[in-house]
Amino acid sequence: MNGGRKKDYYEILGVPRNATKEEIKRAYRRLVLQYHPDRNKSPEAEEKFKEISEAYAVLSDDEKRIIYDTYGHAGLSGAYSSDEVFRSSSSYFDEIFKDLGLGSFESIFDRFFRDFIFGRPEHEIVIDIDLTLEEAFAGTTKIINLPIRGVCESCKGSGAEPSGIRECSNCGGSGQVVNTRRFGQMIYTVSMTCSKCGGSGKIITRPCKSCNGSGYTTRFEKISVKIPRGVYDGSLIRTKNPSILIRTRILKKKNFFIRNGDLIVKVPILPSEAVLGTEVKFKSIDGYVQLKVPAGNGFKNKIILKGRGFWKMSGERGDLIIKFMIVPPKKVERVKKLYEQLSLYEHQEGEDLRKSMS
Ligand SMILES: [Zn+2]
Ligand SMILES: [Zn+2]
Repeated sequence: MNGGRKKDYYEILGVPRNATKEEIKRAYRRLVLQYHPDRNKSPEAEEKFKEISEAYAVLSDDEKRIIYDTYGHAGLSGAYSSDEVFRSSSSYFDEIFKDLGLGSFESIFDRFFRDFIFGRPEHEIVIDIDLTLEEAFAGTTKIINLPIRGVCESCKGSGAEPSGIRECSNCGGSGQVVNTRRFGQMIYTVSMTCSKCGGSGKIITRPCKSCNGSGYTTRFEKISVKIPRGVYDGSLIRTKNPSILIRTRILKKKNFFIRNGDLIVKVPILPSEAVLGTEVKFKSIDGYVQLKVPAGNGFKNKIILKGRGFWKMSGERGDLIIKFMIVPPKKVERVKKLYEQLSLYEHQEGEDLRKSMS
């Protein structure tokens, strides 16, 4: 999507420049049905789907549409991160995708747009910032060392020590060499870049020690970067003043996983706790969670706490989904006697279960 000449957003969606919001939405819906990669297996479908989604994200949002109408692609270039482009309440992405039976926009965003950024200049440095899950949840401020390339102060950019530079003997300092060629009666002179000095006219005999002859040095400046809450692993954020591209990396937290804004946690319990019920307490991303697990409930796959999860694209909190993992007791010897009694009751049940396998 970046690079090359960008197509006009109105053309992409096939709507006139004075189209209403409703017309733009209808056009996008129709194109989603045509190009969503789950419905269209042609190799171009995914690019096309991204293209129409980008066009729709801009044209469905009043502010972005005005910028685009006034300044074109250049006006938007670098102004928004992936989250900001698609996180617009007026775009109804989620509604459209759910309505078409294509899943939530969270999952679609994760699949196609997480790394997307408007008009990202090629070769722009991206600075990775590691965050704990708790920091990603609450938002934080981080200090980073920003590399700044500047002209070397020792050599003022020449790349040479004082008097460590001399005129190129091959070209006499002009940087050009003149060759003469003869074609029959005619003599041509051709001016070419000097191969010895690369056209600079100078030869460095002693390179500058500060910059190893490059003429540039890199210094590091500490700057503080505000990370908004709800960033994901691989989210791209553009800071203003100075404009830097930040990629967030979320460190693994044992037993915790994020999926579509929900937070999934695997909580270990013992077989006896699953049978008899228990009370579990564990530290989640926003403090302790304490809950009663009724008798037999530990065998059920999950308990859902609404609104206690991570953040969704919509800005609402996802759910905390608690999954129980039944783990064997550490010291089997200690409980063996008790299990022997239990097996008197359970042996038959086990056999019956396996009979039903055939
Ligand atoms: Zn230098
Ligand atoms: Zn030369």
